[in-house]
Amino acid sequence: MNKKGILIVISGFSGAGKGTIVKGLMSRYSNYALSISATTRNPREGEREGMEYFFRSREEFLKMIEENQLIEYAEYVGNFYGTPKEYVDSQLEQGKDVILEIEIQGALKVREKFPDTLLLFVTPPGMDELKARLEGRGTEDCKTIECRLKRAILEAEGIEQYDYLVINDVLDECIARTHHIIQGEHCRVSRNISNIEKIREELKRF
Ligand code: 5GP
Repeated sequence: MNKKGILIVISGFSGAGKGTIVKGLMSRYSNYALSISATTRNPREGEREGMEYFFRSREEFLKMIEENQLIEYAEYVGNFYGTPKEYVDSQLEQGKDVILEIEIQGALKVREKFPDTLLLFVTPPGMDELKARLEGRGTEDCKTIECRLKRAILEAEGIEQYDYLVINDVLDECIARTHHIIQGEHCRVSRNISNIEKIREELKRF
């Protein structure tokens, strides 16, 4: 068994259902830890400090950058979002598979720093559905919805940089599929070098 957990990035268009998939993974399976990001955007109704995000002022966020507390950060539709380093490092060390639910610029920065990061991109089955989901969510005004759809056009250009495309059609099946992809990754030869060395060592006894 490889001891250290896998660092997993889940990206996808705003409204694709990433958050719901991640919640499903967390509640059904025990080996996941979810990184909570810091952001300068205002909390939506029902969002609580330290649960969905650490809500920070722009000054506080800039200080986190300066003090090297973030693995990555990016600006998205006028606000900063970033991943605090300490929690991610400690959970990976404890063998947890750590999920970062972040957008594409951040995803690519994480991969640059940690090349064995697993990158998953979530999309609804069709783009009309994406618009309907964003409108149905009712947490954003028209301008923000429009901005998020424009942003989706840009993000779609980067999908080939990801390892897997996860189509969020039937939610339950999608959660199970995502879990199986991650489980499969644990068996990848390049993630099992110390196991392979151990096998070779043990074989020398014969
Ligand atoms: P929302 O405002 O809908 O919560 O998030 C907007 C976008 O920012 C989403 O695509 C979300 O995945 C992304 N995001 C959330 N946290 C982070 C982070 O720490 N870093 C980066 N780069 N993106 C993030």
